[in-house]
Order: sequence, then structure tokens, then C-alpha cells
Amino acid sequence: MALKRVYKAAALNEDVGSNPSAPVPPFQSTLSESSSSPNAPPQDHKNGSLRQTKRMKRLLASDPAAAERMDYRRRLGLARRDDDIPTALQLFADVQARDIDIGSEGFNALIALLTTFERLEDADKVLTHMRRKQFSLTEATYVCMMRALALGGRQPEAAEDLLREMLAGGLRPRLRSYSPIIVGYAEQGKLENAFALYDKMLAQDIEPTETELVALLRVCSGEGGGNVEVDNFYRTLADLQDLVLEPGEGAWEAVAGWFEKRRERGDWAVGHDQAAKSGGRGKDRKAALAQTPSPEMSVRRGVVVDEAGVCSGCGTVLESIQLSSEAANELMTKVEELVLADRAREAEWARFKAWLRGPGGGGRAPEFDTVIDGANVGYFQMNYAQAPPHVNYEQISWVVEHFVGMGKKPLLVLHARHVDSRRVPPGYIALVQKWRERQLLLVVPYRNNDDWFWLFATVFKGGRTLLVTNDEMRDHHFQMLSQRTFLRWKERHQVHFSFGGYEKGGGRSVLIQVPAVYSKCIQGPGSGKAAGGREDENWHLPSAGDDKWLCVQVRREGATRAQSDGGMTEKS
Ligand SMILES: [Zn+2]
Repeated sequence: MALKRVYKAAALNEDVGSNPSAPVPPFQSTLSESSSSPNAPPQDHKNGSLRQTKRMKRLLASDPAAAERMDYRRRLGLARRDDDIPTALQLFADVQARDIDIGSEGFNALIALLTTFERLEDADKVLTHMRRKQFSLTEATYVCMMRALALGGRQPEAAEDLLREMLAGGLRPRLRSYSPIIVGYAEQGKLENAFALYDKMLAQDIEPTETELVALLRVCSGEGGGNVEVDNFYRTLADLQDLVLEPGEGAWEAVAGWFEKRRERGDWAVGHDQAAKSGGRGKDRKAALAQTPSPEMSVRRGVVVDEAGVCSGCGTVLESIQLSSEAANELMTKVEELVLADRAREAEWARFKAWLRGPGGGGRAPEFDTVIDGANVGYFQMNYAQAPPHVNYEQISWVVEHFVGMGKKPLLVLHARHVDSRRVPPGYIALVQKWRERQLLLVVPYRNNDDWFWLFATVFKGGRTLLVTNDEMRDHHFQMLSQRTFLRWKERHQVHFSFGGYEKGGGRSVLIQVPAVYSKCIQGPGSGKAAGGREDENWHLPSAGDDKWLCVQVRREGATRAQSDGGMTEKS
């Protein structure tokens, strides 16, 4: 066994042709682990090459069969790199005829190549050969086959058979294992299969993305030949609302298309039976609402929303939707978890939390309603050639005084190294001292990340507390927060800033961009007030690229208004 591993390593790293440094694609990874799109083409991880050691050369000379296996794997790797199907098929024919063991990875690579070019029949032959010879299939190979079958081959049922086989074999499924089959079913109008598989995926705790949700919404409007479906439409729309902050064009068309299709058919009774049977809560209630006789409906694409939050299409006032206290607590818990991953920070963090409780809670924190990320303000546009190594204390001061001037109560968060009297340039020691005396300053202890302190303080304070920073918070450590919660929170609280011209007092004017009075997210009934107090069903979908909205309005005078946000959010 040890011998085999040596050869495998050699095969993966062997020099190619006349160029001694050209890498050979390794077989290991037929799909990138980090591939974000479940439908992206398979990719190789490219390794650098290693020279053959004398020991390997000796081994090769003494074991011609191993040398041949290695050579086949190498040539297959090259064929895959060059998308050379004829050569790959010729190699496979030899492998079959002479029963050469190119290993699971060799076969997996072959399948990845063939399915990329939708050579389903050929890929299936490799699969059959692998099974006969009892080579194990990887999750990535299953994904290649399932994707080719479900999407290119339009055989989602066959793909789902493979998925079942994969699960039975104990391989862990991922989004990419389900996604192509759900989309494949949806494209063919096979609504029941699509949703049954979607439910299985959710049961595995796998979160869908916009791709699957849009496919499911589309199949609900009868695209692909099915019926217009009510229950599943509203349920999927609620999932979209929950998971996607700014939907793309595909989602707009799927939602608009569904309402238009219903209007076109005048068929509002679809789904009535299910809705009646299952009582009157949540999505069922919405479904029941949807079959009220002949409502008036408008679908408007590309409307705008003014500064007061009024939709130019229907006059609805969009709302500011804050995180529920539950979601906010969850966010704080996660931040705390990340901070306390290093137990050495425990005591300081506990002190910070006690301080944060303020006079009302036995802590010493002053009242504040605006948290300033001091380092971000202090380093803003400070990356020019002769910039000083320290933060720009004047910029920080301008921003602090700007908010004081607005009647706000700022809390300036700065890391200890920026306010340590041994480090602050002499000219600014007095300024820093003033901040301390005015109780504006929260000093982040050494060995701590100031990001967590300003973030936690702002979430803790809740309400309409503002966070002043141009940091888009996309770093890896922010990525560890639940994005559906964090992005919603950020949209409501972040204030961007820049500086204008110099003013009489010597400082520069501060320009700020505060969050809109309404949330830029999908707003449905229960999260928007219709003009004139009508009980309407309004849907507003923002767009990812610009400030345009999709506005859908269903007027049903006298109908009971449905709630739609699943407890994630609350009105502020
Ligand atoms: Zn509207």
C-alpha cells in the first residue's frame, strides 16, 4: 500500500513534456471545495511540480506495471487539462481492454471531463466500469453526473436515483448535490418532484440560494407545463424574503410572472382546496386570501421609492424593518463566541459587557446613540505617500463634533494603541484627553479586535443606534456571522461618511449618508401600510443593481391582512 501512495504522488507532480515546471492537473479534486455556485463548471486545483526523486525512479524501473498506471494517469490528466475528449476516450478504451488500474481518482477525473461536455453516454460507461471493478465514487463525481443528467440530459429522475445511491453510500450531500436536480425538475414543470426534493434538502439543514428559489417560483406559475400553484408559491416567496436581501432580475420575473399568469387565467380558485383543508394560519392563510374572488391586481416593474419611503407605483409606504430582539441576540452571541475563541480575552470582554449596561444596568457606559469606528474614520484617505503612520486625529474629531452638532450622543471606539499616551503624537494628547473627560471614548484593550467592540456595542444598544464606518464588513471574520441577519442589520444601521471643504473653524465639513427611512429588502403584506388604509396585499422587491423596485399590488377590500415575515423581523 505504501508503494502505491508513492506512485500516486509522483503521478500528480511529475514534470510535463519539455517544460520542467508545467504543472499536471491533479486528480483529487474534480470540483472545487469552495465553489460558490452549484452549477459552476468543475475546476482543478493546480499543484506545482516536484522533480522525481532517485528513489521514485528506482521504483519505477523495478515495477513496470506501476509505471504504466502512472503513465495512464498522467496522460489522462493532460487530456483533461486540454479538454481532449478523443484522447481521453482512447485511454479509457485501453484501460478497459487491458484492465489497467488508474484508481478512483483517475476515473473520477474522466467523468468530470466527459460530463463537462455532456458526453453522458460515455460518462455512464465509465461509471459502469467503476461499479463493476468496485472503485468508489466521490461526492464530486456524483455531482458531475447528476448535474449533467438533470440539466443537460433533462433526466432529473435518473439524477435523483444517483443522489439516493450517493446518500445510501454515506456521502454527505451539499447544496450542489440537490441544486441541479431541483432546477432540472422545475425546468420541466415537475412541481411535485421539485418541491419534494427541496423539502428533503431543507431536512438536511442545507440552505437554498436564489438559484433554486427562482426555479421553484417559476414552476409555480406553470412554467414547463404544470398548473399555477398557490401554496408553494407563497411559501417559496417567504423563503426568498428570508434569505435574499436584494433579489436579481430572475426573481423579479418569477414573482411578476406568477401574478400576471394568475390574472391572465382569471383563475383565483387554484389552491382553494388545500387552503380550506389546512385551516387558517401563516402561509395557508395567505393562500386562502389569494382565492378571494376577482381582486384587482397591478404589476409594475421599475418603480422608485422616494425619501419618505412612498412607492411611486402604488403609494404604499415602505417600512423600516429592524431585526427582532431574538435575531439581535443571536448576532451578539455569535460575535461573543468569536471573541471568546481566545480564552485570554474573557476577563476584558466581561468588563466591557458590564460597562456597556450603563447606569441603568449598573455599568458605567454613557448614553450613546451613534457609534463611531474611530480607526476607520482616522485612516480614511490616509494611504497617500507621506501619510503619517498614526490615525488622523483631526478627522476623528470632525466626525465626533459633527454628530454632537446634530444633537447625537456619539461613542467613539478606538483601540488602545491609538490613545495610549506613550504613542499619541504630542499635539493630540490634549484632544484625546478631552474625549476621555467628555466620556465619549471606548478604549479597546490590547490583543483585541476593535471591530467586535463597535459591532457589539451598536447591536447591544439596539433601536436606531447608528454605526459610522465606511468598512463594508466583508472580511472573513464578518463572513462568520449569519449573513441573512447581519446584512439586514447593517443595512439599517451603517452610516457612510466623507469629507467636504474646509470650514471657518478650520475643520472640514462632514458629509454623511444615513440609512433610508425604509428597509431595502423584500417587503410583503404585514410589512407595508397601503395608502388610505386599505387591506391590500402588496409586494415590493428591490433590485440588486439599482434603486428600482418591482411593485405588485392586489386589492382586496375587506379581506384580513396576512402577516408574512415569519418572526425574523419586527417593525420599528
Ligand atoms: Zn408599490
